[in-house]
Amino acid sequence: MEVNNVLILSPHTDDAELGCGGTISKFLREGKNIFWVAFSTAEESLPNHLPKDTLVKEFTSVVKDLGLKDENYKILNFPVRKLTNFRQEVLEELVEIRNQFKPDLVIGPSLNDFHQDHTVVANEMIRAFKTSSSIICYELPWNHIKFDTQMFVELEPEDIESKLKMMWHYKSQLEVLRHYFTEDFVRGIASTRGAQIGQKYAESFEVIRWRIK
Ligand SMILES: [Zn+2]
Repeated sequence: MEVNNVLILSPHTDDAELGCGGTISKFLREGKNIFWVAFSTAEESLPNHLPKDTLVKEFTSVVKDLGLKDENYKILNFPVRKLTNFRQEVLEELVEIRNQFKPDLVIGPSLNDFHQDHTVVANEMIRAFKTSSSIICYELPWNHIKFDTQMFVELEPEDIESKLKMMWHYKSQLEVLRHYFTEDFVRGIASTRGAQIGQKYAESFEVIRWRIK
């Protein structure tokens, strides 16, 4: 299947970088057309002393650093942990993006992700794109009881460097010392997924739909 238009769905600003930052780097190297949507920017973890727009600024610096133009990303302002109350609005956003961007591939959170906002985006993603696009789900191990490693994207060392560089823009998240926001963790999971397919590095995905044209 030829994949040109790739839609990336991120419930909160840093989810896609953590789940599929290496794949985003690879796809950009390959010249694919990316459209990236963040649904909420007020992460509950934001330390009190930081301005409320900190995560907007951090996310914007990630996409700018990657060379994305304004038309390649969208930041929505749904309230964190309350996405459940906005399921219809989330769906309507996704349907509009489907009609305008026409993604070949949609990458979003897993149905096995237990964060309530991630669950909403995962479900509405499937509702919106089930008949139009291939759909895969990225891995955020701290949110899963189980995760099916059905699909792998092979990564080059430069993709891991790029993923780390994306993460270092999130100074607010580095400040709260999350275990998964470390170089050790990123290299460890990429190396683990690589070992499953005989490669140095990879990211793994669950497959909801895979279309071959
Ligand atoms: Zn999140």
